[in-house]
Amino acid sequence: MPELPEVETVRSGLEPHMVGQVIDYIALRRPNLRYPFPAQFEQTLLGAEIKHIGRRAKYLLCHITTAQNDDLVWITHLGMTGRFTIYNDAPNTPGRFHNQIEPRETHEHVVLSLRNDIQITYCDPRRFGFMHLIPEEDISKYPAFVTMGPEPTQPIDVAGLSQRLSHRSCPIKSALLDQSVLAGLGNIYVCEALFRSGISPKTRANKISKQRLARLSAAIEAVIAEAILAGGSTLRDFRASDGELGYFQHQFDVYDRANEACSRATCQGIVKRIVQSGRSSFYCGTCQK
Ligand SMILES: [Zn+2]
Repeated sequence: MPELPEVETVRSGLEPHMVGQVIDYIALRRPNLRYPFPAQFEQTLLGAEIKHIGRRAKYLLCHITTAQNDDLVWITHLGMTGRFTIYNDAPNTPGRFHNQIEPRETHEHVVLSLRNDIQITYCDPRRFGFMHLIPEEDISKYPAFVTMGPEPTQPIDVAGLSQRLSHRSCPIKSALLDQSVLAGLGNIYVCEALFRSGISPKTRANKISKQRLARLSAAIEAVIAEAILAGGSTLRDFRASDGELGYFQHQFDVYDRANEACSRATCQGIVKRIVQSGRSSFYCGTCQK
């Protein structure tokens, strides 16, 4: 499941190919993903110019100006299995923009062709992803963004975080998965950040000192930044091949390592797995208090 670093990797991979380009062709291969595609989706995107590709949490925000001169945001959420692929081997055949482009693989639900002869496809086997179109001025009113907390790719304000946790007596693990506390944090990176900061996932969110929250904030920033960097390097390796923007494998310290020895050199602990709010938590019971 793509988490924030993967989505940022996809964003930065699409950006150089898409920004400044015009969408010359678009085809939808089905009427819906998790939700139906917006009404007039193809007609709106056809001829649109791509101004900028941003991100908020795990949402890709493609800012476009349409043929009608509207400033819109094409929002994509990748769900569990959503994936964009860039193809720069499209045959430059006259009239190809008017003909159906054949699917290159199964579950390829959206295909775009840009004026620079790049083709971009969106595949999503499980179809938990979705796409929306909203006016640019309404972006802050988009339901998912109204109560969303700050981005962990920006320096985290510890006082603000402490404030948001002050009325939460649930375990810190569950609190950090709440998008109004911090945006875009998923299960993997929460487990890793708690390990690095030596905090048990079972600790009550409102019982953690400011000093420990400062350590946790620094760990969250570092874990996310490192994962984005790892994605960037994977992308460079990919560029020679088929341009697929995807999900790289990391070495995790605790995530998915139940019953293995703690990776902290000075610790003799064993990584445990427990279930909190229906999700697996991995942690070392010896060095995480
Ligand atoms: Zn340990």
